[in-house]
Amino acid sequence: MTSALESLQPLKSSNENALTLTGLSLDFVLDAHEEQQRERKLVCICGHPLKRHGSYAPGRPFCKSGQMWCPCVEPFPVLEVEDTRYFTWVTRGYGAKHALIAGLARLIQGKKVAAWTVPLICANCGRTDGPIFPAPINSLMRISDKPEKLNLFSCQVCVNDSLGLPR
Ligand SMILES: [Zn+2]
Ligand SMILES: [Zn+2]
Ligand SMILES: [Zn+2]
Repeated sequence: MTSALESLQPLKSSNENALTLTGLSLDFVLDAHEEQQRERKLVCICGHPLKRHGSYAPGRPFCKSGQMWCPCVEPFPVLEVEDTRYFTWVTRGYGAKHALIAGLARLIQGKKVAAWTVPLICANCGRTDGPIFPAPINSLMRISDKPEKLNLFSCQVCVNDSLGLPR
């Protein structure tokens, strides 16, 4: 009677053939692992990398990049970028003065690519055409000129209404 060990065939098939028996191709497996390891580079509506957002433990900053601290409470990824290092700006208002747009402009200047991960819709009136800007919203739900806990997309008409400017 031959033992199980004696009945084993000499090792002659390649490793790839051993993988083939699982029904998975080598490329498929390697791609799957690469996909898992490749972290999506996402930027929050506050204008800072998603991974810079801290925990919600008391006293811990919510969003921090270098020396820059931002009060963002609810990380909301809106942009996928090739490089998050451009997103270190401080918000001074809506649109061009917003950290998200400042970072995006620098990224484009650096010849890197970016794509919105959400549709650009005015959070107030729902319009999708015309310029739609990120805007810092204060506790009175008005557009402010400094970093706020909340940032929303807004159209020019709603920006003007919020600021008490003529439409
Ligand atoms: Zn944020
Ligand atoms: Zn932030
Ligand atoms: Zn609007």
